[in-house]
Amino acid sequence: MTSKKVNHTDDLHVWYIRLLEVWGVIWGLPVHLFGLLVIVLLVATRNADVKRVQWPFIDVVMVKNRGLFGVWLSKKWSSWAGFNCGMVSVYRWDYVDHPRTIRHERRHGYQIFVFGLLQPVIYFLSSVWIYFFMKKLHSYYDNPFERDARAFAGQQVDIPKSQWMSGPADRWAWW
Ligand SMILES: [Zn+2]
Repeated sequence: MTSKKVNHTDDLHVWYIRLLEVWGVIWGLPVHLFGLLVIVLLVATRNADVKRVQWPFIDVVMVKNRGLFGVWLSKKWSSWAGFNCGMVSVYRWDYVDHPRTIRHERRHGYQIFVFGLLQPVIYFLSSVWIYFFMKKLHSYYDNPFERDARAFAGQQVDIPKSQWMSGPADRWAWW
């Protein structure tokens, strides 16, 4: 066995996928730029380090209890493995090398390559729709973009009520 660096897009890196990625970067530019701004803020305040740059993705790792709001941010982050803003993914300190988490966040990146600025809008509207009109479902776990990312990453796709992060009664995950 040869050692293999973590690059879960190797299998996808044929020329036409690269071309689509270039298009995705242009098409999703507002989201990518927002992600880059998040990086600059997190790194400048010493809350995060740039971990990997693998075209078309930049992976940043949150550092526990460090930086300007380190303790507060680390607490806020305790239940999240990562989040994605197109080319940019930010990972919790202990998930940054976790293959399935990387694959999950990068799938969100690809969603933005496809949907551009519409992705965050449709994502949010899907969650709101689920919350108000699909009372048996969870606004985060059952969001179609999350289900797609979990399926792509080989993670559990159906998340039953008993596994909901903040209990079976809480169907809203963000605030
Ligand atoms: Zn996700």
